[in-house]
Amino acid sequence: MLIMFKPEDIEVSAKDFISTYASYMEDVGIVGKGPDGYVIFPSKTAPVKENHTEFFAEWVQLNDALGIHGVVGMDFYTDGWFARDPKYQTMDDKGVKMEHQICPNRKEFWQYGAEIVKEIGAYPINEILLFGTGYIRDHFCFCERCRTEFAPIVDQEPARLSYAYLLENEDYHEKWHQFRSDKVHEGLQYLQDAASESDEATGREHPLKLSVEVLLDPETGLSEGARNEYGIDYSRIGEITKNVLINLFPWSPDLPSKGSSEYSELVESLYFVNEFTRRGGRASLFRWGVTAIEQLQELKALGKDVGIDRIVSTFHYPSDYSRRRESAIGNY
Ligand SMILES: [Zn+2]
Repeated sequence: MLIMFKPEDIEVSAKDFISTYASYMEDVGIVGKGPDGYVIFPSKTAPVKENHTEFFAEWVQLNDALGIHGVVGMDFYTDGWFARDPKYQTMDDKGVKMEHQICPNRKEFWQYGAEIVKEIGAYPINEILLFGTGYIRDHFCFCERCRTEFAPIVDQEPARLSYAYLLENEDYHEKWHQFRSDKVHEGLQYLQDAASESDEATGREHPLKLSVEVLLDPETGLSEGARNEYGIDYSRIGEITKNVLINLFPWSPDLPSKGSSEYSELVESLYFVNEFTRRGGRASLFRWGVTAIEQLQELKALGKDVGIDRIVSTFHYPSDYSRRRESAIGNY
């Protein structure tokens, strides 16, 4: 069980907190870069929340000294600060922009993310949890760059490319999926290369792990739908970072209860984990806003049914949750 904290969650100093709870914890996480785009450590790359840098330094040092597995959360394409520049915002074919989310087809943003991974990797931590790593949904992204690159692939003028045009032709739609999936994994490869560079620079004992958040939602076809909706392909992640963080039913307050047909479908959709693990990958179950012990027991029971022994959670929903939910499941 890993809990991801924000410094605001903890009313005492890092030292007091960790000295109180250290004996209960094997690993503990802190949000290093949130969806607002700010980081809580000194950075030459990203904007910094100066009032938390001391906490962060103390936190990672104590974890390291006590042999606690240190984990840092990092929002990736969900970056409100970087997205202030409208040219980076992802958008649908009507030109409706998402002010909080970067188009995944941005090499310069991959480089930006890679720099941040290296900065986090300079600290004695073991793992980075990467949130917001894919497209919002299948009908993204129609920014100028995506139009210009993709339209020629389907014999269309960039300005006339529309989602309806792709839906009309199965072959075009599949090319769309392939194009987007390539972008997502190319971006992840940049981050993985940065993690490997950091391993060499620090000479750390175990490689810095990157666990990639994947959304598992009934509305988007659970694990089967992930590639087409988000561009996320589990087998490709298995080759790049080898670690996935399965965000269960991100837009629903409840998980299906054991015994229901929805529960069976959920378990079935997690069969891929066997193959993923067999090939050397590791999967964790994740859920936002776990505050009751019953919720925790529910997650553990599910983990048991699907062969996943690691549960990750937060006390809170992300600060931009309602906006994310709206853009993911809003009506189009
Ligand atoms: Zn785009």
